[in-house]
Amino acid sequence: MEIIIFIIGACIGSFILLVAERYAHSESIIKPNSHCFSCHKELKWFDKIPLVSYLVLQGKSRCCQRKIPIFYFFIEIFTGVIYLYIFIFKINFLPYFIFVMFFLIVVLQDLLTMTFDTKILVLLFLSTLFILIEDFSVFAIKENLPFALFTLVFFFCISKLTKGMGNGDCYIFSLCSILLGYRTTWFLCITFIMAGIYAVLLLLSGKNKKTPIPMLPWIFIAFCMMEYIDI
Ligand SMILES: [Zn+2]
Repeated sequence: MEIIIFIIGACIGSFILLVAERYAHSESIIKPNSHCFSCHKELKWFDKIPLVSYLVLQGKSRCCQRKIPIFYFFIEIFTGVIYLYIFIFKINFLPYFIFVMFFLIVVLQDLLTMTFDTKILVLLFLSTLFILIEDFSVFAIKENLPFALFTLVFFFCISKLTKGMGNGDCYIFSLCSILLGYRTTWFLCITFIMAGIYAVLLLLSGKNKKTPIPMLPWIFIAFCMMEYIDI
């Protein structure tokens, strides 16, 4: 069963990449059929098998030898591992599967374009509600709600004052907060420490000071760490 869940996770990883790439190219998710983003040739079914295709094709598209970033291969493995983790450790795994899928879509859209689709944000909000209904007691929701509201107002003020953070980041911080409750403080510390280290590394590598830093990948990693490390 674990292998099947890992494969499902890897397939979801592949789907997430497709949605994010299509968003980056301003294409619809449904049409046209899967194609190469370089020469636009339609992909054969055997070139769309998660993990296997990358290994067989050695990181290049069959049609025009377009280089496929190794990062894509790792996303498929990563999603497979996360799904396996959720399946093993969460009794109500389905809402978490859906939540992680939408969360990773906005993370990748943010990485590729520094923006994300607000429709996916709405779906992420609904999947958070699904987790609260399925996996949280009314008591826990009441206890966590003030953290979510505080985080929302706090980051809205920060974003208005500094103009360095998008409204979407504020909503996602708040969605994580309602799931984490009092552990929000640790979650925020870990997020900003990682984003800070990344910003310093960017500066040291000679990047322009004004290069925007995508926040969602750090929010997602910190959230996963909080789920894993029981602080
Ligand atoms: Zn091609």
